[in-house]
Amino acid sequence: MTRTPETAAELSPEPSANARPVIEFEDVCFAYNREEVLHNISLSVPGQTLTAVVGPNGAGKSTFVKLTLGLLSPVRGRVRVFGDAPARVRRRIGYVPQHIQFDSDFPVSALDVVLMGRAEKHWIGPYRRTDRDKAEKALVQVQLQQLARRSFSSLSGGERQRVLIAQALVANPEILLLDEPTANVDTQVEHEIYELLHELNRQMTIVVVSHNLNVVTRHASHLICVNRVASLCRMTEMTEDRIHAFYRGDMAMLQHSADCQIFDPSNAMREPHHDVKGEDRS
Ligand code: ADP
Repeated sequence: MTRTPETAAELSPEPSANARPVIEFEDVCFAYNREEVLHNISLSVPGQTLTAVVGPNGAGKSTFVKLTLGLLSPVRGRVRVFGDAPARVRRRIGYVPQHIQFDSDFPVSALDVVLMGRAEKHWIGPYRRTDRDKAEKALVQVQLQQLARRSFSSLSGGERQRVLIAQALVANPEILLLDEPTANVDTQVEHEIYELLHELNRQMTIVVVSHNLNVVTRHASHLICVNRVASLCRMTEMTEDRIHAFYRGDMAMLQHSADCQIFDPSNAMREPHHDVKGEDRS
């Protein structure tokens, strides 16, 4: 095990100043049943960063993720990934859900779960030797090769999360998007998962949703604060004042269990919609 990292900058090399944005939101608004949950969002995630998405429950983090994956379309504005509509570049994005549903009576091995990441490519017929090779390689990447034949249901929370990361890696993504990968693990395992993300960040852009601002300030290079509105900054620009202005709470309060409320910072939700340069429903 490597030594404990001290700062995000130490772990994530600063992307070059001209790192191209890989995810772009331009004047994006989104509503469920006419109730707007994201308002006037404009931000660009630079390539090769480790960007954390934080905000209290109900802030709009999952909605942000679904827009990035092209599972939802904005009501106003547009989302671009690699300069294209998200749905068109979906295969270049690896998504790691918090959980997967499976029948615990059905014997699924860790390797089987990773192979499901190849299912899009082979939705008819059995997996090929190359699929198995790629799945085994992905398990090596997450340092779980020794558990390939173990039943998925017998794995610990941290091991399951690594298997789900391997499942996303098997399709060779250029962006890895993770939804609260450390929600159900202890502090030590959480730290190990972030170390793994730093390793992977050498090869790909990482965007990770987290409920724990204290943890991501140590690990991420960039931060997206979501609270119905959203803004992105480098971690080095993050200050308690900024958090306070955004959430009216101190940094330690920004957790699911804490008292940090959804609110309308500076009445931003009441601002008129920004100029819309074109809706994107592709
Ligand atoms: P977060 O991930 O930050 O907890 P979400 O993006 O899941 O927040 O939700 C933002 C808001 O949108 C919440 O008020 C939530 O209740 C609402 N919401 C989420 N999904 C739906 C849906 N399918 N239909 C209606 N409202 C939804």
